[in-house]
Amino acid sequence: MGIILKTESQIDTIRRSSQAATETLQRMGEAVKPGVTTAELDLIARKMIKKHQGISSFLGYRPTNHPAFPATICTAINDEVVHGIPSKRRRLHEGDIIGLDFAMVLDGYHGDTAFTFPVGPISSEAQRLLEVTKASVFKAIDAAKPGNRLGDIGHAVQKYAESHGYSVVRDLCGHGIGRSLWEEPQVPNYGKQGRGTRLKPGMVIAIEPMICVGAHEVMVLEDEWTTVTADGGLAAHFEHTIAILSDGPEILTVNPELWG
Ligand code: MG
Repeated sequence: MGIILKTESQIDTIRRSSQAATETLQRMGEAVKPGVTTAELDLIARKMIKKHQGISSFLGYRPTNHPAFPATICTAINDEVVHGIPSKRRRLHEGDIIGLDFAMVLDGYHGDTAFTFPVGPISSEAQRLLEVTKASVFKAIDAAKPGNRLGDIGHAVQKYAESHGYSVVRDLCGHGIGRSLWEEPQVPNYGKQGRGTRLKPGMVIAIEPMICVGAHEVMVLEDEWTTVTADGGLAAHFEHTIAILSDGPEILTVNPELWG
């Protein structure tokens, strides 16, 4: 299919779905505390989708030869990297970190975002992981200029994360986004400067580093969704949807209240 460049009005629609997505993420973040179940967080997202008269990007999402995803958010607690399924039986505990990944559709276009929240006071090790992973998103966005290449984005994340002693997940990556949640190109969080597809105005991509305290290898649990670190170490995940414009990147999921 190739990379689908978006018009100004299409980017405007993605800006609206992205804003609805980040507002939802913020609401869920405000509800994160010890004792809350991940199903309760999913319920907040369902209500927000209704409020915006949107459609869930994730509910019923079904890759080939795969069970459909049964919820509107993906959760990822501690050693879980991404794609955990919310459950009434899964309660948050003080000291956990929880990644929440949420996307929704407005007027046919997806907006996608993720953030890893602390549950009450957390260890200094976990706090540092959150700070570095969050900052790595902005290193990537700084590299997402027209004329640069995809490898520049991945390189920026990898260099920053590895300089802090962390590893970058290889098996999962960011993606183009628009009428489909997943479009070309794939946006890896590792790579070489000056390599890969050239970035052009009109490209809309989701940048989503997944960073590990230990090794980068991951595995998928029996539910066929939940992805965890193979060594059981902590992982964090942050995501922005951005548009590449002629004068540089614009963060469509921008939300200073959430991101600081
Ligand atoms: Mg995404």
